Amino acid sequence: MEPEGEACDIQRNDCGAPLFGGRIAGKIVRSLYDHPYSGIEEELSASGISKGNARALWKALYRNESSSLHSQELPPALLRWMEERCAASIVRAACIESADGLARKFLLRLRDGREVECVTMTFAGRFTACLSTQAGCAMGCVFCATGQMGFGRHLTAGEIVEQVLHCHRDLRERGLPGLRNLVLMGMGEPLHNYDAVMEALAIVTDRRGLNIGPSHVTISTVGVIPGILRMAEERRPYHLAVSLHGANEADRAALVPANRRWPLAALIDACRSYQAQTGRKIFFEWTLIHDVNDSDAVASELAALFTGLRAHVNLIPLNPTHGYDATASSAARSFQGILRERGIPSTIRQRRGIDVGAGCGQLAGEPTIRSRPLTSLFPTG
Ligand code: SAH
Ligand code: SF4
Repeated sequence: MEPEGEACDIQRNDCGAPLFGGRIAGKIVRSLYDHPYSGIEEELSASGISKGNARALWKALYRNESSSLHSQELPPALLRWMEERCAASIVRAACIESADGLARKFLLRLRDGREVECVTMTFAGRFTACLSTQAGCAMGCVFCATGQMGFGRHLTAGEIVEQVLHCHRDLRERGLPGLRNLVLMGMGEPLHNYDAVMEALAIVTDRRGLNIGPSHVTISTVGVIPGILRMAEERRPYHLAVSLHGANEADRAALVPANRRWPLAALIDACRSYQAQTGRKIFFEWTLIHDVNDSDAVASELAALFTGLRAHVNLIPLNPTHGYDATASSAARSFQGILRERGIPSTIRQRRGIDVGAGCGQLAGEPTIRSRPLTSLFPTG
């Protein structure tokens, strides 16, 4: 399911993501946010600078609580070298907070003018960032605002890293503890942009920098089988969440067009291989839609899929989007009860930021103007 090509003169890497960074002697140089620690060392060496400077640079990039590199005590030549290569590729265009103050959504503008959203949420005093991995999404799930807008492009590793930095610094600037958890559940399908996602996660989990624990990272996928198998093979240390929404091929295909490419039966087989190889529990997401997939019979059919799998189901009552005319289920408890009877643990996802369009599946990169009055709007950062 490759997205349609687009006419654009931006230089791209092998995955089709644009190359952003400094333009040095007419040549585009990747942003420093695109590089893991070893890549920074290589970049330094290639510029004839001692790679011993990598530690100071890395600290300036990731331990620095302000976005200004000038606040860093770096030798001027090194600062200049760094500035040429890490002009921020995302800028905050807007920020909006939910009425209960538990979710804060950022509209971020990318270098090519596209916009993506990311969200910070508080759960029991701990902060989680929900990140976008693509501008738009090619998968077209009918109930998802991102799917309804279609595919724009893949984000670069640096653009994903910068979202984490943006959320982290926003918290620290407000005197709050930094980010603890990451969920790749914003705009886009992470496993459709596999390389950039894994590069970004290697950077933000690096102990010398942001040091987000890998066990605090969850990758949510619509079920891109090759990506799931690759995660297992490469022993990626992150949680895997697989979005199901339908418990048989026809029901799932009606909600998730990607089921035609990666059918449910093959997906469950891939989950079994993943679990056999990694020993990890798998999370399954189920958007609960009134009168569509919330009956007791459907819950039983779902439970049967998990025979022999260590599964945990996250039930997400449908969040409203403009392009899908259905309502959230009120049967979450009863659905959960059936799963429990069949020995399948589940959680009903705590809702965050629905009033400001920051809930699951509501991110669309559009200006954050909704029918309700804004509770707060902050200037461009
Ligand atoms: N593309 C990935 C991750 C982003 S979507 C995926 O599909 O898993 C994150 C989660 O939000 C998915 O489980 C998705 O099915 C769910 N979701 C999408 N639209 C929703 C909506 N309108 N209401 C509730 N959940 C939704
Ligand atoms: Fe894409 Fe996930 Fe939305 Fe489906 S639910 S359209 S895969 S972002």
